[in-house]
Amino acid sequence: MSPSILIIEDEASIADNLVYALGTEGFDVTWKNLGSEGVREVLTQTIDLVILDIGLPDISGFEVCKQIRQFSEVPIIFLTARSEEIDRVVGLEIGGDDYVAKPFSPRELVARVKAILKRLSWKQDVLVELKQGQFAVDEVKAQVRYYGKDLDLTRYEFHILKILLAQPARVFSRTQIMDKAWEMPASRLERSVDTHIKSLRTKLRGVRAGENPIKTHRGFGYSIHIDEN
Ligand code: CA
Repeated sequence: MSPSILIIEDEASIADNLVYALGTEGFDVTWKNLGSEGVREVLTQTIDLVILDIGLPDISGFEVCKQIRQFSEVPIIFLTARSEEIDRVVGLEIGGDDYVAKPFSPRELVARVKAILKRLSWKQDVLVELKQGQFAVDEVKAQVRYYGKDLDLTRYEFHILKILLAQPARVFSRTQIMDKAWEMPASRLERSVDTHIKSLRTKLRGVRAGENPIKTHRGFGYSIHIDEN
């Protein structure tokens, strides 16, 4: 499967060039011109790398990056137009992986994209799973194994499970789970946490029918319990 690249850029001429340059290299390219649309795309689609402009019509690229980093480690390349933007990007805490200063050649950007994806695939090969009792979490592949079996999880389910597993036996409220899983404008109902938990339980039961490691704490939230041995 070809890697999917998301371009978040409001200047059509730049975006068109990038869509073309990346498309001819065999990448699967999506283009959004609003920051909020870009965040939603990362949340709902499988995106391997994001090319992110800083000056966007709705929210800044910095804010887009911050929101994406709440739920995804997808590599981000910033497109910067001004030197003070470069200073902020280089100043680390933003969470970007690389930057390209405008004006740039599409060929240069394609080379950066390839370099980052190559680095990532190497990282995937050597990454060790985080074992937590009967669970094993592969952060890079966004996969969880349960009693040695891969669970087929949605993005939300993966994040919810990861949050619970980070601190076994700790009770998380629905709001805490929501805040950690997607730091998005408060447009999501708490009930959706319940829906994801329900679906997660069904998938866990599919592996071990008699076990229910996720406990409900009535009127509050959930906790997960692991086998210590
Ligand atoms: Ca712009």
